[in-house]
Amino acid sequence: MNRLEIKQLNVSINGQPILKDFNLEIPKGEVHALMGPNGTGKSTLSKVIAGHEDYTVESGEILLDGQSILGQEPDEIAHAGVFLAFQYPMEIPGVSIANFIRAARVARLPEGEEINAVAYYKELYEKMDALKMDRSFTSRSLNEGFSGGEKKRCEILQMAMLEPSYCLMDETDSGLDIDALRIVADGVNHMRSEDRGFLVITHYQRLLDYIVPDVVHVMFDGRIVHSGSAELAKELEAKGYDWVKETFATATA
Ligand code: ADP
Ligand code: MG
Repeated sequence: MNRLEIKQLNVSINGQPILKDFNLEIPKGEVHALMGPNGTGKSTLSKVIAGHEDYTVESGEILLDGQSILGQEPDEIAHAGVFLAFQYPMEIPGVSIANFIRAARVARLPEGEEINAVAYYKELYEKMDALKMDRSFTSRSLNEGFSGGEKKRCEILQMAMLEPSYCLMDETDSGLDIDALRIVADGVNHMRSEDRGFLVITHYQRLLDYIVPDVVHVMFDGRIVHSGSAELAKELEAKGYDWVKETFATATA
């Protein structure tokens, strides 16, 4: 029960099928990497789990610790413990990082309950120290004029402060440089725990040198065609996706 389960999921967008009988299980305590060529539906998967409205779930199930989250609003799914990185990629001038994260925390509390400011800042600073973030960061406006690495730090800080049960990280389109990769990897490694599962979507084998995943999945044409250990990512880097296509995709077609 302590797992994120996706069962026989079929998802379309504008009538075009994207995910096809997709299956995946991420138990708490594990880090799963999802790789695969562009356009196979990796980002679609993370957005569907998070409740993005553009996608139509035709059939199948998404269960969070045994409970269906299909049809729930994105904020309900977030409150249930799912964090989608890149959820807030926009710049919000005039809203500081500290206030933004605080608002997100308040939103999860029962009506009328408030956050103790002293305790909040104590926790925020502890987590920033653990992530080696400069404290001046908290007063800057969200993502405004941030470098790629700073956006990553900000995202990891949000993730650390919201303490999700399941973290979905889609790094595909972000053009991460080596510093940013390290920030993401350090953040994930710092947050790895028995109480938390991760789905790390990436193009970059290099990221998986720093985050050594428990399981690597290769996705092709809307479904997972092969799963293996961390070694699989290295094999993919050496042999390329054509190898996957030829070796595995035809077997499942
Ligand atoms: P990946 O992340 O693996 O590169 P995506 O999930 O982004 O793949 O895209 C899978 C397929 O769905 C692609 O063919 C893409 O063009 C299509 N798609 C994704 N999002 C949309 C959208 N909002 N509108 C139309 N087509 C989309
Ligand atoms: Mg993508």
